[in-house]
Amino acid sequence: MRAWAVDVPGPVDSSPLREVERAIPTPGPSQLLVRVSTCGVCRTDLHLAEGDLAPRRHLVTPGHEVVGVVVALEEGCVRFCEGDRVGVAWLARTCGSCRYCVAGAENLCVAPTFTGWDLDGGYAEFVVVDERYAYAVPTAFSDVEAAPLLCAGIIGYRALLRAELPEGGRLGIYGFGGSAHLTAQVAIAQGARVHVMTRSPQARALATHLGASSAGGAFDEPPEPLDAAILFAPVGTLVPVALEALDRGGTLAIAGIHLSDVPALNYERHLFEERTLRSVTANTRADGEAFLRIAASIPLRVEATTYGLDEADRALGDLAHDRVTGAAVLVAPWPA
Ligand SMILES: [Zn+2]
Ligand SMILES: [Zn+2]
Repeated sequence: MRAWAVDVPGPVDSSPLREVERAIPTPGPSQLLVRVSTCGVCRTDLHLAEGDLAPRRHLVTPGHEVVGVVVALEEGCVRFCEGDRVGVAWLARTCGSCRYCVAGAENLCVAPTFTGWDLDGGYAEFVVVDERYAYAVPTAFSDVEAAPLLCAGIIGYRALLRAELPEGGRLGIYGFGGSAHLTAQVAIAQGARVHVMTRSPQARALATHLGASSAGGAFDEPPEPLDAAILFAPVGTLVPVALEALDRGGTLAIAGIHLSDVPALNYERHLFEERTLRSVTANTRADGEAFLRIAASIPLRVEATTYGLDEADRALGDLAHDRVTGAAVLVAPWPA
């Protein structure tokens, strides 16, 4: 099969990904072999390609927003059959026995493995997944629409939970890409007033179109104080800006896996009056199931820019240079 692999991590314009030929992977016990239909391009893939996220394996295939069809399965599979459409997401395996797994916080597992970081992901014609970590894909969504739900959507949903937005509250969203445009719709459907701060004029237009109450520049002050905010842009200098925009008792959740350095905070301006700053680390399978149910019930509108499966390097470049509005999605088949 054809696949992309991270060779030497570096700036995306230096082509850190390379095309490789590999044997089609063989599923082990409880694993599904999935023919990839679409794979979303997440900012984490960009961090991995550029070396902001240290690679865990040389020549790993990125991609953890995979929608595909089960073409083979091994002994022990009980949830899915051949021909089923499934989603493969970031969380590939947890230990099941550490104190976090036991307490229902498997996102904090001390020995997790991740798709497209430890294990080969969906920038390829086929991928293998442990069926216990795969998702049934709601019929409300096409393959292209469903892909960004599997990380951008799920992580954004967890960030929204972590931001503890009160009912009918005022939510600030910093950065407005694949994840934020989905999260904003969930918040709006739940009755929130959403204010978006982003440097991209196209993203501001999309935010307004999707029902945001306001859309301003990345460092602009929102028109009213915020009960909660989510930082999607991987930009540490926005942390004090977002904290300062919070009302008393407000919470800022940082959604990304990588953030540039946070400048010094001033206790009085940024944290006093019981403002809370918290991170978001992966997700539990329960988060994923809950989010997919909500996504289908709204139903979310997924704004996607599509690329061929053979154009992953171009898609990452466009993501790096703000040329993608909404989410970027790779679409099979790989041209011969
Ligand atoms: Zn564990
Ligand atoms: Zn992701």
